[in-house]
Amino acid sequence: MSETIRVEFSCPDCGSKSFVFSAEPHSMDNVESCAGCGRAISKDDIIEHSRQIAKKRADEMVRNIFKR
Ligand SMILES: [Zn+2]
Repeated sequence: MSETIRVEFSCPDCGSKSFVFSAEPHSMDNVESCAGCGRAISKDDIIEHSRQIAKKRADEMVRNIFKR
């Protein structure tokens, strides 16, 4: 699968969408920590988050198919 899913990442602890970046550009690749609570954000957090979003989307898709 080559589909890129754009995910809006929010802090797993406080839900904040403001982050401290370790480098330019200010993308999810360079996120260092949460600006809200200071929690360190790792690549794993972001990967796990996108996985859950993707799963939710897939579930919704299946549900919509069976609704018809
Ligand atoms: Zn936070």
